[in-house]
Amino acid sequence: MTPGRRLVFRTAATVTVAALAADVMTGCGRAALPAHALAQIRSAAPTTPPPPTAPAPAPVRPAPLGHDGLPEVHSQIKTTDKVVFITVDDGWQKDPGFVKLIRDRKIPITVFLMNDAAKENYGYFRQLQQAGALIEDHTLIHPVMTRLSYAQQKYQICHSADLYARQYGVRPTLFRAPYGISNNTTRRAAKACGMRALFLWKETARGTILYQVRGGLHPGDVILVHFLPHMTRNFLAMLKRIEKQGFTPAAFKDYLPAGYFQ
Ligand SMILES: [Zn+2]
Repeated sequence: MTPGRRLVFRTAATVTVAALAADVMTGCGRAALPAHALAQIRSAAPTTPPPPTAPAPAPVRPAPLGHDGLPEVHSQIKTTDKVVFITVDDGWQKDPGFVKLIRDRKIPITVFLMNDAAKENYGYFRQLQQAGALIEDHTLIHPVMTRLSYAQQKYQICHSADLYARQYGVRPTLFRAPYGISNNTTRRAAKACGMRALFLWKETARGTILYQVRGGLHPGDVILVHFLPHMTRNFLAMLKRIEKQGFTPAAFKDYLPAGYFQ
């Protein structure tokens, strides 16, 4: 082995300067190293230790899938808290008073937006988003999904999600099928479009609340309302009924793991 090769090998093996210097001094039967090679050894010596790196963030737990590997369909979120989740569908009526109400009272809502209703004024829903609303996916034209092929269903879900990603800077990950009508093809299409879950509802409200289950509201119920005329007045009436039962509107983001939104 030539001295030069030995030097490279041992430097790579992070031998200390002291050990190398001893090696050079004893000679080991070789010629003494030139001064520039010694300088190289010294410069290769470890100096200060690298600063500690921040621990890697914990991996985000993905949204759970059904036994069939497809996104689940929810109408209620498991909790013992007296909270309900208000979802507002379609987007036909664009009442400025409603934005003000959501903003001023910081009421968490999720909008399942249908593109045909939104496209004449995407800005209205941007105002709602800025007031704290989540903008999620409710197709392009509100079809009965079960009458469509897989490719057609996928187009309805993926294309509206793409449009909203461009408009609102966040791509939807939650989907509600029009009329709540879906099949496993819908769930497959939703999965292919990046949806983490599908949502139905437990109550519909238009001022008064219509219950699917007797006994009023239950913890974690999802409530469905629509963008309709007089919606602000009706929404206030609904809020009163929710409060009267000791419930509070809550945000999906506070009750669903982060994996539902990434
Ligand atoms: Zn709808």
